[in-house]
Amino acid sequence: MKITDVEGIRLRLPEIREIGDGCQDILIIKVHTDEGIVGIGEAHSNAVVSQAILDAPMCSVSSSGLKRLLIGEDPRDINRLYDKMVKKSVTPGRRGAFMHVISGIEIALWDILGKSVGLPVHRLLGGTRRERIAVYASDLSPGTPKAAVALAEKHVKNGYKAVKLGWGQLGGSIKGDAKLVGDVRKAVGPDIDLMLDMGFPVPLDDAMKLGRMLAEHEVFFLEEPLAPDDLPGWAKLTAVSPTPIATGEKETGFRPYANLIDHGGLRIIQPDVARTGGIAETLRIATYAEARSVRVIPHCWSCDVLVAATLHVIAQLKECPYLEFNVMDNPLRTQLMKEPLRPKNGIIEIPNKPGLGIELDEKTVAKYRWAG
Ligand SMILES: [Mg+2]
Repeated sequence: MKITDVEGIRLRLPEIREIGDGCQDILIIKVHTDEGIVGIGEAHSNAVVSQAILDAPMCSVSSSGLKRLLIGEDPRDINRLYDKMVKKSVTPGRRGAFMHVISGIEIALWDILGKSVGLPVHRLLGGTRRERIAVYASDLSPGTPKAAVALAEKHVKNGYKAVKLGWGQLGGSIKGDAKLVGDVRKAVGPDIDLMLDMGFPVPLDDAMKLGRMLAEHEVFFLEEPLAPDDLPGWAKLTAVSPTPIATGEKETGFRPYANLIDHGGLRIIQPDVARTGGIAETLRIATYAEARSVRVIPHCWSCDVLVAATLHVIAQLKECPYLEFNVMDNPLRTQLMKEPLRPKNGIIEIPNKPGLGIELDEKTVAKYRWAG
């Protein structure tokens, strides 16, 4: 089997809002083969930049666009092609957007392999450790405790057993953020897991205070209160915070996670499969984390391509309490698949059809396709 084309498909909502929703302008990747099998992936990044990374010509031995590296190759040689893409783009790549696009391609290669043998990706990875998983409802935080309570109550009523509030209007004052969480805790009771995602960094002193204040409300984790690269800050915060600290959604490749675990003291890491290098790289990160008793709860905040890829990864994890599930209303999330991946009563099934187990709804693709 040979790769004949790597197609970037940009999908964009008619109106882009300046909010923490990374699923408004996305790049779906289709890897075409001479046997008619098409693999689907997603690069969770900036779609225009990702398209350029896909299509760029060779500039030097270590600076190449990615598509040209794959044409004529056997798509089933996933690890070798991953190494080739990383090596040949290492000068402009190494971290960030190049790794996001490599991730999207890698996911599509797994989809091809699964479809070529008629098995779901999780079966190819060694079989699943679970057939379904609880999800946490992940939503943008309103600015007032009253609105946050109403939002959390709505998700609990819809069957979710865990709710994360993030970004939105958090970060104004840590006392305000702690009160918001306290009011939500009072409203939903002790049996619902609550998470808080700051999104943007606050001063280290504030992060430490927040970690202490949230403990009173039994918060499951406090996410990204510091800058992604602030290893000394993470080390100081994790040393004193009684609330577990989580981070990692903006990292790419294996080494940053090893550093967060070994030098930052993180007990929860959140690799994003469509950013960090794809399915196999996420599992390499997970193996390292599990050997150090660190939890992996992947970041998953885009369309159903990422949801499917993440579920196949989660199927392999020794321990994982939740899939992050984006509950915002957005047609690129709710209408992109012929059979959308949706939880029932807060539980979602691991896809069981060949490959990723998803099929794009081409009508939705045509509606939101953007060539501008
Ligand atoms: Mg986050």
